[in-house]
Amino acid sequence: MKKKSEVTLDYLDECHLDKSLEKMFLLVASETLERFSLGKCTISLSLISENKMRNMNKKYRNIDRTTDVLSFAYLENDDEMSDIKDLGCILIDPKRAKKQAEEFSHPFKRELSFLFIHGILHLLGYDHQNEEDSEKMFALQNEILNNLTIDFYTDQKKLKKELKIAQSMAITPYSHFNVGAVLITKSGEYIRGFNIENSSYPATICAERVAIYSAYSRGNNKDDFVAMGLITSSNETSTCCGVCRQVMIELLPSYIPVYIYNDKMDKMLRLTVKDMLPYAFTDEDLKS
Ligand SMILES: [Zn+2]
Repeated sequence: MKKKSEVTLDYLDECHLDKSLEKMFLLVASETLERFSLGKCTISLSLISENKMRNMNKKYRNIDRTTDVLSFAYLENDDEMSDIKDLGCILIDPKRAKKQAEEFSHPFKRELSFLFIHGILHLLGYDHQNEEDSEKMFALQNEILNNLTIDFYTDQKKLKKELKIAQSMAITPYSHFNVGAVLITKSGEYIRGFNIENSSYPATICAERVAIYSAYSRGNNKDDFVAMGLITSSNETSTCCGVCRQVMIELLPSYIPVYIYNDKMDKMLRLTVKDMLPYAFTDEDLKS
C-alpha cells in the first residue's frame, strides 16, 4: 500500500510579501495532496513579478502576455537515489492575484490558495482543454478550496464581540440559558441571532435558527455564508440541538466552520456543519 502524501515545499517569494504566507501554502499543499497517495513529495512555488511572468509565458508557451499561474510538471522522476517524488514547479504572480481577488470580491489569500491548488492539480495531470476535463478539474479544485481548514473570512475578535452582543439580547424568562449566534457572509456581514422563549414552550426558537432566518430574510443565499459562531451560558462548549442541526445542514453550506464558545470564551470548539449531522436527511433523499 502506498503511503499518504507527505509534502515539502520549496518556497521562494521574489515579491517580498507577508512571511506567514509560506505556512499557508504548505498547508494548502498538504491538504490538497492528502487526497492522493504520493508518498513523500516536493513542490516548488515561486511568487514572481508581472514582468517575469510575462517572460516565462512567452518563453515556454509562446504567449506574449502575463498570466496568474503557470505550472511545470517534472515528467522524469527517475532519480533512483531518492524516494522523494518531485512534482514540479508552480509560478504565481501575486499582483495579478490581488486584482482578481478584488474583482471577485473575495480575500487575497483565498485567491492565492485557489491559484496554487489549480497549479498543483495541473502537476498531477488535470487539465481544462475540453469541457469534460475542465468540469472534473474545477469541481475538484472547488471542493478542495472549500474544505481547507484555513478560514479566509472570519475575524475572531469581531466574531467574539458580536456573539456577546447577540447573547445579551436573548429573551429567556424561563430557562435563563442565553445563547447567541452569528452568521458571517462573504460580503463581511455579521448577522446576529439569539434564543427567544415563549410561555407556550413549543413556540420557543433557538439562536441558530433566528440568525439563519434573519440572514435569509435579508436576501442572502446558501452560498453567501462562510462561517457561523455560537455562544451559550454554559461553562462548556455546548453544541446545537437536533432541530437546528437539521436546519443548518439544509440552509448553510455543509463545509463551513462553526465556532462554538463557552460563556467565558476561554474554550472554543471548531466543527463544520457536516461534522454536526452525519448521515443527514436532506432534499437529495426526497428525490431518490
Ligand atoms: Zn436549536
